[in-house]
Amino acid sequence: MRIRFWGVRGSIAAPGPETARYGGNTPCVEARADDGTLLIFDCGTGARKLGIALARGGPVRAHLFISHTHVDHIQGLPFFLPAFVPGSHLTVYGPAGIDRSFPSALGGQMDYAYFPVPMDQLPAQVEIVELGEGEFGIGSLRIRTQFMNHTAPTLGYRVTTGGGTLVYATDHEAHEGATWRPGHANETFDEADLLHAGDQRHAAFLRDADIVIHDSQYHAGDYPAKAGWGHSTIEYAVDMARVANAKRLVLFHHDPNRDDAGVDALARAARAQAGDMDVIAAAEGDEIVLWERASDDATEAEGPHAPRIQTRARILVADDDPAILQVLDTVLSGDGYQVITAVDGVMAVELARSDGFDLILLDVQMPRLDGLAAARQLRKEARLHDVPIVMLTARTSDRDIEAAFAEGVTDYITKPFAVAQMRARVRSWLSRSAEVHER
Ligand SMILES: [Zn+2]
Ligand SMILES: [Zn+2]
Repeated sequence: MRIRFWGVRGSIAAPGPETARYGGNTPCVEARADDGTLLIFDCGTGARKLGIALARGGPVRAHLFISHTHVDHIQGLPFFLPAFVPGSHLTVYGPAGIDRSFPSALGGQMDYAYFPVPMDQLPAQVEIVELGEGEFGIGSLRIRTQFMNHTAPTLGYRVTTGGGTLVYATDHEAHEGATWRPGHANETFDEADLLHAGDQRHAAFLRDADIVIHDSQYHAGDYPAKAGWGHSTIEYAVDMARVANAKRLVLFHHDPNRDDAGVDALARAARAQAGDMDVIAAAEGDEIVLWERASDDATEAEGPHAPRIQTRARILVADDDPAILQVLDTVLSGDGYQVITAVDGVMAVELARSDGFDLILLDVQMPRLDGLAAARQLRKEARLHDVPIVMLTARTSDRDIEAAFAEGVTDYITKPFAVAQMRARVRSWLSRSAEVHER
């Protein structure tokens, strides 16, 4: 497997002398697998030069994995030369948005108002495949996807070949609270010691990877002002990679306002914390040869599958603050869900018992019965056993978070919350639980 970075910058392209060494193009990573399969992760402005290099060899067969349809990850697609070469065959994978399908979110940037050639009139054969969480095969490769914690539904990609494992995990933010449970011993890296179940899932996704390309837009010092923006600190990225026992971590999605010296400093700080793990900051033009061994794995025929989601998911929202109830009702109804509200824990439990729900959002501090006690009662009901229960609360101490997961809640979001991130989290859980019910 060989990897080459064509764009490493997050959010917006940032060309100029101050970013010349690491590069100013938005995300695009080329990976050539052992069996010759061409994989491309994201299609930011870096895809333009990659496309020119590829098209020199004639028609191109490529698999493009889009993390999400925020513009920095797709804006290079209309300028990706192989799309204009007849005989090229591109398969583009990615997650649906909340209010539109992946093909429509991806093609939207090529509407007449923005670009002269619509998506469906590209000379190349372009197949668009909508993905949720799951696993599928391409030739001898295994691809696993998992939702990240971002301000839009976003997928990470884990690619395993006969030679090793690559994980691409960008546009992801640490879940609520501290990284570690209270009382965690320094310099130990056990997945079970992570405070938030979401971070445990994330570490498991990176498990034993040979290389992890990870969002690391911030450091701990600039993070407080950027909490809820959907990006990681280097400290968090290093912790997750160490918990996962990854061999190498690549810092990625550099902040557009960080100059080369700033990225150097981030990389130094990350290395100081990384122990034996190898850490580099991704730079445009860098090539990494990971392993040469060719794979002779049996090919699995099973293809990728689209995410399943209930056509009109029913969500129960319980909060004693009418203003918050109103916001949640408006936002979630706007996303197409059927929202039923409760003003205390007793009412929430009664409603949940008498009526089926696909997801339950609970405040912690409520009259009559608090959210944790309500969650405990709901988990005793056989048919509510697998329903995602998301706590949405102003109680933010690490002990509170630990206590909530001990009661069997699925996720824990603290107030004040970023609305975009809450919407993405709700969407991800609905998609996951639809998969569970399907089996
Ligand atoms: Zn981004
Ligand atoms: Zn994004």
